[in-house]
Amino acid sequence: MTFDWNAHRFSGGVLALDLANTVIFRETPDRAMDRFSDRGELERFAAAAAHFRKQEWGKVKFQPPREQAEVDRIVDVREAINALFRTAVRGGGLRPDALATFLKLGSVLVFDESMTQNLAWPNPGSAVQGEERKLSLGTAAFLSAMRLLEPARLERIKICPNCHWLYFDESRNRSRRWCDMTVCGNRAKAQRHYRRNRGQPEHDHA
Ligand SMILES: [Zn+2]
Repeated sequence: MTFDWNAHRFSGGVLALDLANTVIFRETPDRAMDRFSDRGELERFAAAAAHFRKQEWGKVKFQPPREQAEVDRIVDVREAINALFRTAVRGGGLRPDALATFLKLGSVLVFDESMTQNLAWPNPGSAVQGEERKLSLGTAAFLSAMRLLEPARLERIKICPNCHWLYFDESRNRSRRWCDMTVCGNRAKAQRHYRRNRGQPEHDHA
């Protein structure tokens, strides 16, 4: 069975966070699940990301990794992106060790690009028309993450209390509480309803 890379899987809002979110339930290790444990999913993720991240990247083709070493680099940068931003959202700031690891891995990814490649940062919204870009998935995720370092963007990153995904809250007053209201928001509502009907005080199940 093929995993469905639907719109919900791209609730992160930007490629960097969508990539980090290919592991679910990160904060409960016994429940955590890595969608890339089947490496074939990387290719399908890359194809779906080009579709769902048009707003960020315009017309683009994200080239999935071909060799094992490239797979490893994408997984490494994914973990670096996750560590960097999760720590920041939790109030730990942008930590030197996490930032250094992220930049080092990104530097290797960028250096592997063809020397004629244009690594201009994505210009949200404006590139929907025009020529299709081709970029490796890892480099694209790194560039996407670089843009999140800006304070005004960094403070819009949140952690979904249900699935622990990182997401970029673009709502005007930064009021989004879930990665995806229709999935995680409803699940939380159903859980509250269930607890009420059993007549249990909610704090017993916190
Ligand atoms: Zn969620």
